[in-house]
Amino acid sequence: MSSRREPIETGLTSSVVYPSGLFSLEKDEVYPYERFAYNVLDAGVYGLHLRGLPESISVDFTRVLPGCSPWSINASVSVNQDSDGRPLSFTLSTPEFAPAIFYMFAAIIISDFFDDDSFVAFKDDPRKLGERIQHFIDGASAGVRAYRDKGLAHAIRAGYEHLDLSILDLQNYADGFDLLTKQIAYHEVAHAYIRQFMRDQDTSSTQGRAFELIADLVATEWLYNVMVRNTPDTEEYREFRGLDTYADTILTNSLMSIRSQQAGLILSAISGAQRTKGPLSLTGSKSHPPALQRYQLQHIHLYTLIASNFSDVLPEENLALVGQDWSERMDMLVRSGVIPLHDLEDSLDLLHCDTIETAADLIEEHNVPELRRTVEYLRATRENLARVLQKRNR
Ligand SMILES: [Zn+2]
Repeated sequence: MSSRREPIETGLTSSVVYPSGLFSLEKDEVYPYERFAYNVLDAGVYGLHLRGLPESISVDFTRVLPGCSPWSINASVSVNQDSDGRPLSFTLSTPEFAPAIFYMFAAIIISDFFDDDSFVAFKDDPRKLGERIQHFIDGASAGVRAYRDKGLAHAIRAGYEHLDLSILDLQNYADGFDLLTKQIAYHEVAHAYIRQFMRDQDTSSTQGRAFELIADLVATEWLYNVMVRNTPDTEEYREFRGLDTYADTILTNSLMSIRSQQAGLILSAISGAQRTKGPLSLTGSKSHPPALQRYQLQHIHLYTLIASNFSDVLPEENLALVGQDWSERMDMLVRSGVIPLHDLEDSLDLLHCDTIETAADLIEEHNVPELRRTVEYLRATRENLARVLQKRNR
């Protein structure tokens, strides 16, 4: 039995625009850009083909995004349309320095967050996570200073040097980086996949926020497919992973996927601080739902997919372990201040609760195949929140 997924032939045309300075650098310094582009195109091949969209996508790391600096933690997708508004091609961009920043984050934060021994140290003293976050920010800031003086290639080198990253580290940090950028890349491709461009002209801010939730849920589904559902049930794969049974590989891949969403939440808090030039923040805005609300819906979707599709593979104690691993890490994130307590309240804002209902409506209207099963759940969540709010305001 083959352990590889089915190849598909599509008419996809793609291009990647790299900043030219990259090619004066070493393999581990170029890797974040290459892997990020791969994750975009990998999702693009499947997604655009499946939805009958034009199979043309480019990744551009050299654009200046509106309202962003070259080191903003961000990504965006844009569509080129013909005069009748039909889509012709898609372009996914990140600020120039962002992929390298994602790699530094993977090296300093994700590797510790994933590692059981380091996590115990965080649990015993949550301030240690704050220290690691500060260390990461110092490395990125060293890069930003070099960027201002001499440009991107020097920025990447300076950031890596500050954090003491060498080519020998690449194999240790590649998985965490890959998982993080899959989420970011899939989210952006999902904006095209759900055909959000059809309503760009008249999209209200509630609809705009709802589309963010929908893109998150599609990205979660794709992460689950790649990481858990398509886990090969072969000796060859188990040997490659150093695990004994199929259940072990499902458990390990489930834990990694769930932890990678939590790592994404930490990055959101840092990007909130970058945006507001203040402390770590998960608050929302008119255009974006609160990061905590986004995270909660993604987590529930991922956990539901695992629990409902693999209950016959994972023994009950393994599912309990997945739940326990998740709650210990959430607890630590609250105690360390990564999840500010007042941001928990923000998720209960009436404005943001309405977004959930609009998301359910838009999933039906845009006929997003993966998410049909989530509509009912989203409506129930909205109703539960309405009851909580009513009680509180009485
Ligand atoms: Zn988005």
